[in-house]
Amino acid sequence: MSKTITLSHGNGGEENNELISKVFYKAFKNEILEKSEDAAVIQNGTLAFSTDSFTVSPIIFPGADIGKLAVCGTCNDLAMMGAKPKYLTCSVILEEGFEMRTLERIVNSMKKELEINGAVVVSGDTKVVPKGSVDKIFINTTGIGEIQKAGISSNNITTEDIIIVSNSIGKHGATIFASREGIELSSNLKSDCASLWPIVEKLIQNDINITALRDATRGGVSAVLNEWAKQSDVCIEIEEKEVPICDEVNGICELLGFEALSLANEGTFVLAIKQEDAQKALEVLHGCENSKEAKIIGKVTQQYEKRVILNSAWGTKRFLETPTGELLPRIC
Ligand code: MG
Repeated sequence: MSKTITLSHGNGGEENNELISKVFYKAFKNEILEKSEDAAVIQNGTLAFSTDSFTVSPIIFPGADIGKLAVCGTCNDLAMMGAKPKYLTCSVILEEGFEMRTLERIVNSMKKELEINGAVVVSGDTKVVPKGSVDKIFINTTGIGEIQKAGISSNNITTEDIIIVSNSIGKHGATIFASREGIELSSNLKSDCASLWPIVEKLIQNDINITALRDATRGGVSAVLNEWAKQSDVCIEIEEKEVPICDEVNGICELLGFEALSLANEGTFVLAIKQEDAQKALEVLHGCENSKEAKIIGKVTQQYEKRVILNSAWGTKRFLETPTGELLPRIC
């Protein structure tokens, strides 16, 4: 590892994984942490527990702001373990000179999103640092959720599962990039930032046989699939032409050479569902506002150990790797 921290250590991809395993996992090593799930499962499988910090820039962008993102981010990680978000903490680090009106707007966004999840903030902390010590506002949220469906795990995926993506991908990453660079070409483009618990709740109510769920945040769908292939010791094969990508995201990817599969999402998740329930899962997803474009994108095989294969529309195959480097720091 390098002698100092680089921006790529926070990319949600290869370097980030290395930092986490060689520094944090090494020091904190325990059975729960090593499961590497979206949220820790504690109290004999009854509760999910997760934390996340938000440093996004700009703090207000098409589709959301840092407040909405901070509630969605933590609640979504709980939802990905089949847990109903219940209690959150909210810690805020503010820069001297930050506008009170903007702070109120951000806190109101948090309130609205908490209501969607049926969760409440029960504890918090506020720090103010001198101008220049932090850029505007950083927020940390930690959440506890009640597990409604036990046994969802990224370590249990088998060849009996089908891979589904819940909506068209890459919108959050593309939106942040466009708003940061002042690119105006995509007036319809906005972040997919949304709470996922209402969708997961419907899947559970319809008795869908869920193996694993993961929101495709930093590192995008590529990172999720590679984590799953490693954790469950399987090969995941994706059909490139089946992956839903909107024209605006395609445009930004073509312009800047990004891969949509590696762009961040904040309201889009990947599902591993037992084959016999795949159609039923799609019906449920298509009935929800934020997963109307859900599609089956691939299958699970044993062709290669712990790898992800992308089958192109032209019949060629290549490995889809965990993203490396850092395209977009402060994406979330
Ligand atoms: Mg997550």
